[in-house]
Amino acid sequence: MAGLTIVRFPRDILKRRAAKVPVVGDEERKALSEMAKTMYLSGGVGLAAVQVGIDSQMAVIDVGKGLIKMVNPVIVKSDGTETCEEGCLSVPGAAVKVKRAGKIVVQYLNEFGEITQLAAEGLLARAIQHEIDHLSGKLIIDYLSPLKRIFLRKIPPKRSL
Ligand code: ZN
Repeated sequence: MAGLTIVRFPRDILKRRAAKVPVVGDEERKALSEMAKTMYLSGGVGLAAVQVGIDSQMAVIDVGKGLIKMVNPVIVKSDGTETCEEGCLSVPGAAVKVKRAGKIVVQYLNEFGEITQLAAEGLLARAIQHEIDHLSGKLIIDYLSPLKRIFLRKIPPKRSL
């Protein structure tokens, strides 16, 4: 199976806030597993639903420590700052330095609709913040000034989300 098609900048769905999921059901579970498959096939470490054209607050992440499926994720605590280069499956070829919280606690519904909290740092914390940005309609290039956008590095980043 080929996985889902990844939506690329500048499509509109990438620029607006995704809809909250009222109930986590079979449809959502199916979408989450298809999103995970698409993420693995694309070599990414994270994928938000809007990146495959689904207008819902859902994301999958695997930074090498196991697959995490999140519905309606919200950061409830954040600490410190770290700046690191990121790539995005929806903005291929772009590498952008993004300043984010170093440590976070995220609350979300798991694929069974249960409220779950997760403490994260390092790449996992970065990936979660990147996906939550997607669900709010924000892309890595939004962190650049208009002038910097012109000089955007076209070097493929090591990891894309
Ligand atoms: Zn992305």
